[in-house]
Amino acid sequence: MNIKRRLCISALLLVCLSAACPAGTVERTGGLIARGTKWAAPYHVVDSKVAGPTVMITGGMHGDEPAGARAAGHIRFWTIRRGKLIIIPRLNVRALAAGQRLTPGASKGADDLNRNFPKSGCPDKATGDPARAIWAFVKSHEPDWLLDLHEGFAFHKSNPKSTGASIISLPKLKLGDTVKLMLDAANASVSDEGRKLVALRGSADGSLARAAAERLGARTMILETCFTGQYMSLRTRQHRLMVHRLLKHLKMVDCESDRMAPVGPRGRSIVRVAIYNGLGTGNKTGLHLEKVLRSSPGMLVRLIGPPDIASGVLDGQFDAMIFGGGSGKGQATNIGPAGCKAVRKFVKGGGGYLGICGGAYLATSEYEWGLKIIDARTVDRKHWKRGVGKVKVELTKLGSAILGVSEAVVDITYANGPLLGPYNRKDLDDYQVLARFRGEINKNNAPKGVMLNSPAMILGRFGSGKVILFSPHPEKIESLQGMVRRAVAHIAH
Ligand SMILES: [Zn+2]
Repeated sequence: MNIKRRLCISALLLVCLSAACPAGTVERTGGLIARGTKWAAPYHVVDSKVAGPTVMITGGMHGDEPAGARAAGHIRFWTIRRGKLIIIPRLNVRALAAGQRLTPGASKGADDLNRNFPKSGCPDKATGDPARAIWAFVKSHEPDWLLDLHEGFAFHKSNPKSTGASIISLPKLKLGDTVKLMLDAANASVSDEGRKLVALRGSADGSLARAAAERLGARTMILETCFTGQYMSLRTRQHRLMVHRLLKHLKMVDCESDRMAPVGPRGRSIVRVAIYNGLGTGNKTGLHLEKVLRSSPGMLVRLIGPPDIASGVLDGQFDAMIFGGGSGKGQATNIGPAGCKAVRKFVKGGGGYLGICGGAYLATSEYEWGLKIIDARTVDRKHWKRGVGKVKVELTKLGSAILGVSEAVVDITYANGPLLGPYNRKDLDDYQVLARFRGEINKNNAPKGVMLNSPAMILGRFGSGKVILFSPHPEKIESLQGMVRRAVAHIAH
């Protein structure tokens, strides 16, 4: 988006009453916009059946700005006590699938979806099939508010060339203190001044936010996070915090901002999986694991970061949790003692835990920072940096049955994963071996014979929960990715 003007919003504070109200009956419906076409986009309606504002939340306008689409996908599980929420998480399904700003297959000059809505002073006409369908839908619902969730390539405060990390509204729009309240909500946990979100005034001609404000009288905003140098879980969280703050101000919302999945006990038809996405692992590690799981029907996958764990997302929203590759110690440090406690409680209460490489180190019992949720320690700790490469792994009978691998021996990627051995705890059952290394990597003076025949994959129990640890990386080899899906399905039940 081009910024036409920038305005500093005056710092007026409005105290919002947030008295607890009993949850009313919320009706959830949905459907498809542009049904039956290649532009079909799902929408969701959360209706309190109590008089109040209609708030529309849209995401995924630009395909390379995925955090908004994700946040909107979480918000559809929120409950409200008055008014109506209408959510279109993925306005531009094709651009999201391609991971690009412009719409693949759109006609020339109509490939930036957010320039195709009716322009100022022109007839009430959108350009191109997807914008036409979306505009007709938006008009038919007459929203009082419309929040369009986007991302930018930089933090506006540090680099004014980008609108990243901001809330953009039209110059003439009277929004009271809402923008400041929303910015404060997102900024409360941003310590770096250069990364703080700021208020901007503008919005491009042809954008949905501008068209809805000019033609429908809606109060609209474009919320922007920054996709560079920030974890997906954090960007998604910032969107949720901002939307939640407005809905709180409007006395609508009836759940916390951390709700990202359907709540309730385990044993549903959908397996709800949380993947750790924060310091101690790479942003791409979580995204890759998510992709591996998403190809499996019946799995709802969410990326969660340290603040999400701290605020209790593991209580009632998930069936299984994955900690992927990276540093076990780094992950433990960043979720902190309270986060480690929350994960232990989650598993003890029946949640599944899958640890891969760094996440396997994290689960073990000997390190001071370890989660201690399996009766295992790491062997030959001194030579943990024994190298990266392909290694042979042989599945046990139990391993084949659980992980669904018919070949007994497979080549798998290994990257300094833990060599596992018993820790001989009295309070836990011994782990069971699912696979053993039948080859070894001995770089950096690691002695020969230690890795060979040691457990590569193990299964244990902690309280009511199951724990599976993979020292190597089946998710990195396409033909072995089914092992990850099967492991998650196993621990989730
Ligand atoms: Zn955008």
